[in-house]
Amino acid sequence: MEICPKCERELKSANQWHNCVKVDIGDLFKNKSKELEYLFDQLLLEVTEWDDVAVSATQNCIVFVHNQTFLIIRPMRSQLDIKFYSAVKLNDPLVLKSIAYSGRYENHIRVTADGHITPAVFMYIKQSYKLL
Ligand SMILES: [Zn+2]
Repeated sequence: MEICPKCERELKSANQWHNCVKVDIGDLFKNKSKELEYLFDQLLLEVTEWDDVAVSATQNCIVFVHNQTFLIIRPMRSQLDIKFYSAVKLNDPLVLKSIAYSGRYENHIRVTADGHITPAVFMYIKQSYKLL
């Protein structure tokens, strides 16, 4: 992997397009419910254990890339929006929406500050990782 000298983001190739802004992940949790950072840490700890995962932050979300982006986490005021992909439409009350997008489905799960990350959430993220 290449590292962009300007934003220090990990890239698949030196000329890969990326949002070239240096953002500290901690900055995304400023003025947000403290519990959201704990929830995010749970996710980060698990997902960075998987092979070949690059993590980077943009101005409003944290992006996880395997061969392609498979997980995008956006801290909201009191919720974490977890976006991931699937090969089929997900009909699960846990999933807020499941929208067809260029041959796959884009899904959102929202966890609240006083909630927790369930095994089902990790299962969905793992499927997204394997897909992409
Ligand atoms: Zn850059």
